[in-house]
Amino acid sequence: MEVTVKRKVILWSLWLLIVPPGLLLIYRYFPPSGPFGTELIAFSVLAVLTAFMPLTINGTPLYLVQWVTIAVFLKYGIFVEILLSQLTMIVLLFRSRSNDPRSIRFPFNSFMFFILSAVAGFTYLLAGGNIGSFDLLHVIYFSLIYQLVYIVANHIFLYVYSMLIGEYKRFLSIDTIWDFVITFLVFPYAITLYITNAFIGLPALLLLGIPFLMMTALLRMYNNSERINNDLKKTGAIGHQLAARLSVDEVLDQFVLKVAHMFRAEFAYILDYRNGKLQMLRMFENGEFQSFKVPPVRYNKGIAGLVLVTDTPVIYHKKKQWNHIIADYVPEGAESLMATLISRNNYTEGVLVLASKKKHAFVSHQLKILDILSTHLAVAHEKAEYVETAIAKSERCGLTKLYNYRYLEEKLTDCMQQVNAGELEHLSLVMMDIDHFKAINDEYGHQSGNDILVQLAGIIKEEVGSEGTVARYGGEEFVVLFTDYGKDLTLLFAEKLRQRIEDTEFEIQSDLGEERETLKVKITLSIGVSTAPEDSDEAMSLIRNADRALYIGAKQAGRNKVAAYAK
Ligand code: GH3
Ligand code: MG
Ligand code: MG
Repeated sequence: MEVTVKRKVILWSLWLLIVPPGLLLIYRYFPPSGPFGTELIAFSVLAVLTAFMPLTINGTPLYLVQWVTIAVFLKYGIFVEILLSQLTMIVLLFRSRSNDPRSIRFPFNSFMFFILSAVAGFTYLLAGGNIGSFDLLHVIYFSLIYQLVYIVANHIFLYVYSMLIGEYKRFLSIDTIWDFVITFLVFPYAITLYITNAFIGLPALLLLGIPFLMMTALLRMYNNSERINNDLKKTGAIGHQLAARLSVDEVLDQFVLKVAHMFRAEFAYILDYRNGKLQMLRMFENGEFQSFKVPPVRYNKGIAGLVLVTDTPVIYHKKKQWNHIIADYVPEGAESLMATLISRNNYTEGVLVLASKKKHAFVSHQLKILDILSTHLAVAHEKAEYVETAIAKSERCGLTKLYNYRYLEEKLTDCMQQVNAGELEHLSLVMMDIDHFKAINDEYGHQSGNDILVQLAGIIKEEVGSEGTVARYGGEEFVVLFTDYGKDLTLLFAEKLRQRIEDTEFEIQSDLGEERETLKVKITLSIGVSTAPEDSDEAMSLIRNADRALYIGAKQAGRNKVAAYAK
């Protein structure tokens, strides 16, 4: 704020000191050389219409208004040209998408245009150019000087200003080059306008003005359709990339990154719609994913809520337009904002919000593109979810939800490779088998046996926690894999588990008797342990060794025992 106030004071002081007195002096010593009449009004209308239709190249608007202001300078002289430039500057002030307040941009632009008009105009006069000349060669030669001085002065001015406010800008950027090219393309129109007007008067403005404005309008339309084409191409590419992702997290991350980049948005959010609430699923701000938690809000709150309730995407050009509808979370410094529903088969999944620090950063066709992109997201998300569920199913046992043998085998092979490569110090395997489980099935029924298996799986998982991997190896056999435990720690774990199971009463609903009743049943476990690298350096033999320990060391020794493999 401090800096803005200082800049405002300096700019307004400079403006007051130079522009009004300068204008008065110029009027006094270089008065207009033509009447203020219909023709001048026509010139002004032409200039204002041209200023309303800048060509946008690489996202920078280029104003073509000089084709009128140069003609006006050649006809009326420096004073009238300054007035006209100031008038078109006001149009520019309203059209421009800068974030600076008008109280800064007015003195800045007015001052700059005044200086440029004065520097170019006086150079023209000092070099020997005449106002109102009918000599074509004279006009072309001196206007070229005028034009050259104007454009060079313009770039020096902007460069120096950007240095003064501490924003480094390249002196010759691609935008500068485009500016040069367009200015010199427009130059012949300025000369033609001036000369034709000198010979045929007012009709010259219609004769040249109409085709010029129509050409500009056509170029703008072409330019716009090029941009839409470009955006559609990028949209297709993003769709393909998303389709190749197989995990939900990857889909979401990739989508947010690509879309934020494509729309040059500093902020991108995906909100998940579930149980009547909107929950932030991804937050991307200033090039980074944010991980802090934002509490969920009711489904009808904030901008996302508005989009959800009205089922209509929104686009805002500045903060003033959306400031009154925000929920709890506001992107710091955001101005422009777009939001659209993420839905699939008429079912709403969430809301996508993009925001930029620039005002007027998004145009309406981009909202439609965003809509297409959000459909790509919904489809890719659904597919990834499906793949994840399928993978999870293929890796788990349906009854106990523990990992199955297929998963265990892969994991074990993988870990054994790490042991052999020296990346893992130990790998221990615990194999357990319920004692006399057949008898339990026979007495209480198969369903009761299943109930016990499920409860046992829960206890083993609880005991292991995040220290190891639990799998159902076969019928009533379970395996635990520890990558950080040596043999001693593993034996301690096994003994603790054996005792806990011995002490646990399992609840079953017996269905063999007359009526269903809840019974408490006790079981015991026989457990075998083997460890790599000391017992084995091969995945399958680690299992075999644990199995041997289980049968010889525990079962044959009387059951309800823990045994370690011995060579
Ligand atoms: P021990 O291991 O102590 O020698 O005796 P056991 O009775 O447990 O013997 P065995 O390992 O040969 O028999 C395993 C029994 O486990 C056979 C089968 O009835 C039961 N079983 C295997 N899978 C399941 C299952 O998924 N559900 C139920 N309810 N029972 C199962
Ligand atoms: Mg068995
Ligand atoms: Mg058994």
